[in-house]
Amino acid sequence: MRQTLSFIPTLRETPADAEVKSHQLLLRAGFIRQNTSGIYSFLPLGKRVLHKVEKIIREEMEAINSVEVFMPALQQAELWQETGRWYSYGDELMRLKDRNDREFALGATHEEIITSLLRDEIKSYKKLPLTLYQIQSKFRDEKRPRFGLLRGREFLMKDAYSFHATPESLDKTYDDMMQAYSNIFRRLGLNFRAVIADSGAIGGKDNHEFMVLSEIGEDTIAYSDNSPYAANIEMAAVQLDYPKSSEPANPVEKVATPDQKTISQVAEFLETTPENCIKTLVFKADDELIVVLSRGDHEVNDVKVKHISGAKLIDMATPEDVRELLSCDIGSIGPVNLPAGVRVFADNAVKSIVNGVTGANEDGVHFKNVTPGEDFTVEAYGDLRFVKEGDPSPDGNGTIQFAKGIEVGHIFKLGTTYSEPMKATFLNDQGKAMPYIMGCYGIGVSRIVAAVAEQFQDDSGFTWPNAVAPYEIHVVPVNVKDDVQRETGEEIYEQLKAQGFEVLLDDRKERAGVKFADADLIGLPLRITVGKRAAEGILEVKIRETNETVEWHKDEVQDKVREFFKK
Ligand code: ATP
Ligand code: MG
Repeated sequence: MRQTLSFIPTLRETPADAEVKSHQLLLRAGFIRQNTSGIYSFLPLGKRVLHKVEKIIREEMEAINSVEVFMPALQQAELWQETGRWYSYGDELMRLKDRNDREFALGATHEEIITSLLRDEIKSYKKLPLTLYQIQSKFRDEKRPRFGLLRGREFLMKDAYSFHATPESLDKTYDDMMQAYSNIFRRLGLNFRAVIADSGAIGGKDNHEFMVLSEIGEDTIAYSDNSPYAANIEMAAVQLDYPKSSEPANPVEKVATPDQKTISQVAEFLETTPENCIKTLVFKADDELIVVLSRGDHEVNDVKVKHISGAKLIDMATPEDVRELLSCDIGSIGPVNLPAGVRVFADNAVKSIVNGVTGANEDGVHFKNVTPGEDFTVEAYGDLRFVKEGDPSPDGNGTIQFAKGIEVGHIFKLGTTYSEPMKATFLNDQGKAMPYIMGCYGIGVSRIVAAVAEQFQDDSGFTWPNAVAPYEIHVVPVNVKDDVQRETGEEIYEQLKAQGFEVLLDDRKERAGVKFADADLIGLPLRITVGKRAAEGILEVKIRETNETVEWHKDEVQDKVREFFKK
């Protein structure tokens, strides 16, 4: 492609509203443009990267017999009502009405659509298993769209769905997907890990997230420094025996703690440690207010609270809810003398506290000498806190360390979460109607472009890996008014194209400085500069990844290029 015929609007300045490097460079190098918050256009170079990412995904999907389809983005509300997600999905779902006032959603995901599609078509176990996938725009009204393509409101996803007659068949496809995903991210050159994850609002059991390790990641991964164990911090288990002190439990004592709101303030004021305080939180579990206790130095993990309480949705109670339940401010609540019927769950660490400190459910007042079992009862103890760096790894090998990750893929075993409410059944080998057993498998295609962009860059621009570079070779005649330079550049461009290489020719009448700066910014793997020594047949070649430069003779270009790209 000739640069004069393409559309590559590079920018000298870093756009002020772009916070992370990938977003800044994608804008500066002319790969994308923002339309409005979280909504982007892909310009020619960005589209080519996207296309290459899609191609790798398609090849790996087809390799495990996952077959491509294309489903509608515009989805009738009735399907989402069948599963109840019309009501539970919340504000992220973009909703609209047609001219007859019928309600629709713009697809945030496609479980409902695909389940309704298959329930009318696949009636026999003989036609299972079946795995279908699509690459399509998804719409989610994210609360905080940010970091460019990383969290958009309209973004491209590869979503696959599998249908099975038996759990074993689902296990097999899940393992195949795990392998295919690993292949995809490895081929993209990404530094990634598969981690154990929570299934969030989508329902279901087994699932893994694929995380690209990156400082700008929004997720925290807890991994063992001495084993393959890695989990999203939401899911990482804490397995610890907390030693219980042998001191006798003393009678509860009420103490005034005016203006002491946080655990550390209260601990300091009462001359004790946060470890000896019982932190009390109120959660809204579906429609019920529940009390959750942890040690003062620990953080409660709401995903674990959700599991122990059995609730579908979990959220912190508002200060108003707390006041209504306990007649005090959240800084003074505690588990002693709770109203009848309030369920209390506690983290395992709380069990070993003797003579602890906790709120007295009265503004500005705490209790001393509080001991679980003696002074309050707990419905269930469990692992309810976030793991901390230095905790033992739950697999028994090594200690936990943290890293930041960008979630680029997510695979779930759904089971019958969707097929049951949607009455999507097949006849098994006994002739009995059974709901399909399902899996679903997502990849953030446009997010991957940003993740690759984040990883492959240096101070002057992108350093695209060969697998996804928008073109392979940049041919840059320095001065196109010089006949020799222009003609040599044209000749090399035509030759390499004819050999099947993807070549960008900078045929612009720009100053050398501008051309070089743009070439570095765009970051194609190989740059062939045709300058003053073209008359002698000498070209300067730059390998973008290392910024190493070498000289090639014009006649050896084809062989050297083939060697470089191993073609
Ligand atoms: P997140 O926790 O980042 O919001 P999610 O759990 O909502 O992700 P899924 O519903 O599992 O994501 O979607 C599958 C994949 O789609 C994700 O692994 C991610 O790569 C991508 N994705 C999700 N939301 C966005 C978004 N707003 N912009 C770009 N990609 C996204
Ligand atoms: Mg999300």
